Amino acid sequence: MPWFKRVEKGIHTPTEEKKETPDGLWYKCPSCKAVTSMAEHRKNLNTCVKCNHHDRIGSKEYFSILFDDNTFVELDENMTSGDPLNFVDSQPYPQRTAATQRKTGLKDAVRTAYGKMNGQDVTIACMDFAYIGGSMGSVVGEKIARAIDHARKARTPFLMISKSGGARMMEAGFSLMQMAKTSAKLALLAEEKLPYVSLLTDPTTGGVTASYAMLGDFNIAEPGALIGFAGPRVIKETIGKDLPKGFQSAEFVLEHGFLDFIVDRKELKQRLTDLFGMLRPATPAEDATPKAAKPAKAS
Ligand SMILES: [Zn+2]
Repeated sequence: MPWFKRVEKGIHTPTEEKKETPDGLWYKCPSCKAVTSMAEHRKNLNTCVKCNHHDRIGSKEYFSILFDDNTFVELDENMTSGDPLNFVDSQPYPQRTAATQRKTGLKDAVRTAYGKMNGQDVTIACMDFAYIGGSMGSVVGEKIARAIDHARKARTPFLMISKSGGARMMEAGFSLMQMAKTSAKLALLAEEKLPYVSLLTDPTTGGVTASYAMLGDFNIAEPGALIGFAGPRVIKETIGKDLPKGFQSAEFVLEHGFLDFIVDRKELKQRLTDLFGMLRPATPAEDATPKAAKPAKAS
């Protein structure tokens, strides 16, 4: 009897008896290919335990990272876009909107909310790339504008988390108007001396970079995020030259003076808390406190 010889050829386990690993149990880093369990990857806030590659996450994850106990009040939850141009590409725009809403469970490409971050009040607007490439249409602009209005009314700092392919072509000119609208609202916020921090995540491009994403009192980014206006292919074709290595990465953009710093997602909440604490305007009560009289100089 040959002990180490396979007598029967092939595999005979019937399909229903095969043991499958459940989907989504393991995570393979797209950058360094290291494999970790999904649970550990999530615990590490969706950054690679080995090479610190920052995975794209959405508003749901950012809100849970930043708001204390994941407790917040969402603003304009049910705002959805119309179809002002009767736009049709591979399918009519309303059909695409309905399908995307079903698929992602999101109403549009941004969610806005207020709550506490390490005990301090804050208003946050966070984009979702899963919704038509995080494109900026009327709803995105309007929700951001209203979130800024909320920050002004409640006198909280404002945090914008951008993640976008740019303006939404299905709303054409209406999308472009959002750049002016959000910028004007941010000017009002600045007039009231309320801090605005813009966090650029992978990717932040087009009209979003050209408006609110670059208007922060501090413009900060996640490591390795793609940040730019036009895509590298368009630029290469325009200038007819090869682009430098790492072009449009957060690190490149920082080196060229367009960012204040790069922040690891695991340190994000604390860094933001420190920053807002530092930028917090003096309350009227603090302003009114008379300065301690200088001790008289002994003569
Ligand atoms: Zn990795």
